[in-house]
Amino acid sequence: KVYVLRLGHRPERDKRITTHVALVSRAFGANGFVLEGICDDKVRDSLLKASKSWGGKIDYICNVDGKEYVKKWREEGGEVINLTMYGINVEDVIDKIIISPKKKLIIVGAEKVERFYYDNSDYNVAIGWQPHSEVAALAIFLDRLFKGRELFYNYRDAPYKIIPSERGKKVERK
Ligand code: SAM
Repeated sequence: KVYVLRLGHRPERDKRITTHVALVSRAFGANGFVLEGICDDKVRDSLLKASKSWGGKIDYICNVDGKEYVKKWREEGGEVINLTMYGINVEDVIDKIIISPKKKLIIVGAEKVERFYYDNSDYNVAIGWQPHSEVAALAIFLDRLFKGRELFYNYRDAPYKIIPSERGKKVERK
């Protein structure tokens, strides 16, 4: 089980980027998306809309206390992975993370991420040591975690299926 915890969402400034974090969570194989501190119907609706057309199911949980959520996750035997440019390079820890059967909570921030999350994560993981984006960091982390298999996911319950084509858009209605 893999969940993504999004910290510090500001509905006006971050609506597109948080929506992208949620869509990447779903598309790249996470089972849940958790929004700290707030609920945002725009984010929820985008997730629901994607699942309605393309199938699959992802849990949407919102307005959680991030620190409590992390504590509880660890009490339940899960591990916590904070994505940060200050961390250990993904290349150096990913094998250990893949081997562990524990459920995983992946944290991505918006602006400054509080010290608590650095201290209470099992891993602080850098997707390289340059500042970039929570969307990019999450996508690359999930891709490494699932070794690229997630790119081939199609959901059985999807009403639509894409027929890959070199040009144009082919979509089959099931
Ligand atoms: N300056 C902020 C800080 O000190 O935490 C980070 C801002 S960054 C725009 C937002 C989020 O993107 C971070 O919290 C982190 O999750 C992710 N991120 C950005 N660059 C990253 C990197 N090189 N490796 C891992 N995560 C990164």
